[in-house]
Amino acid sequence: MNAPFPPVLPTYNRTPLSFVKGEGVWLTEASGARYLDLTSGIAVNALGHAHPALVQVLHDQAQALWHVSNLYKIPAQEQLAQALVDNTFADTVFFTNSGTEAAELAIKMVRKYWYERGEDRPTILTFEGAFHGRSTGAIAAAGSEKMTKGFGPLMPGFKVLPWGDHDALKAALDDSVAAVMIEPVQGEGGIRPLPDQCLKGLRDACDSTGALLVLDEVQCGMGRTGRLFAHEWAGIAPDIMMVAKGIGGGFPLGAVLATANAASGMTAGTHGSTYGGNPLACAIGAKVVEIVTAPGFLEDVQRKSAGFRQSLEGLVAAHPDVFEAVRGQGLILGLKCRAPNADVVKAAQAQHLLTVPAADNVVRLLPPLTITPEELSDAVARLDAAAQSLV
Ligand code: PLP
Repeated sequence: MNAPFPPVLPTYNRTPLSFVKGEGVWLTEASGARYLDLTSGIAVNALGHAHPALVQVLHDQAQALWHVSNLYKIPAQEQLAQALVDNTFADTVFFTNSGTEAAELAIKMVRKYWYERGEDRPTILTFEGAFHGRSTGAIAAAGSEKMTKGFGPLMPGFKVLPWGDHDALKAALDDSVAAVMIEPVQGEGGIRPLPDQCLKGLRDACDSTGALLVLDEVQCGMGRTGRLFAHEWAGIAPDIMMVAKGIGGGFPLGAVLATANAASGMTAGTHGSTYGGNPLACAIGAKVVEIVTAPGFLEDVQRKSAGFRQSLEGLVAAHPDVFEAVRGQGLILGLKCRAPNADVVKAAQAQHLLTVPAADNVVRLLPPLTITPEELSDAVARLDAAAQSLV
């Protein structure tokens, strides 16, 4: 007899760990075993688990009002949008429930922009190693065989360029290009930061043809690099930006931020969402943004991440058979491995340290932004023990 099909669709290879409680940077199993969490739910729990201020807002808002339709005015949504506008390049914001939905809207916004101008610009340029989600649009945008195989016909309109190939970009960026869409730090692709000079160059190149610059800061945004958004390090601004993960601190929330110009085609009836921007999500998002933008918070991320990075460089030097290099910025870091990254993740897990594998044989370290220097030292000691166990 065939084995029964699992009640949960088996699209994940799950680690046999199951947590019942989270507090700060710690996750606890039913047995009481505690794990130091350098995954943050893949860059989601930006303020750690069960942050008291978020628990309070969740509780208060749940008692007042969870959900109303976007048919009505939602003050919490307006407040969060205003906070994002005040702190970024953006003039306007649309709220979603995920990064994928944000990517979908960004693509629609780009297409509508050129439609309204009466120009035929069918192509959005994207990059190898990119990840923008798992919808049909997002997999077509990323283009990798791993994500697209078996799901054709793929949505047309994307051209995937090699990462870091300036000549290929120059050759591709003609008047048929509607937009360039890129992660300032590739997350799933293996913590590959785009150097500031390249991001500046990309902004200039887009300006020279009128193509819109769309940044996917779903993973690298919301304080993770030590600035509110990663592109700020390069001193440039995009036309459109996708945000999700950290902005909800664990509550499903995403957003598309845009300039008034880029968003000009998105009039009433052109887009919508049942849940996106509901009072519960926005109350929590507003608290996350308030905490991350409070004076000193991002400076603290920068300070402690500098020390962490230095310790990781020492770890790489001490274990050249296991590790090759440290990549990334702030608290979105990757250990490029010589040993198979899956083995390193497993060995770290045996030391009760949670990490995330990424492409290019990288182990991702995405601690809550609230992690203390002592907890970061603890993490390095566990990584050291994990590396020792591999040789
Ligand atoms: N964009 C980037 C850069 C991501 O890292 C992810 C998720 O990992 C997404 C988009 C998709 O976000 P979600 O899983 O919330 O749909």
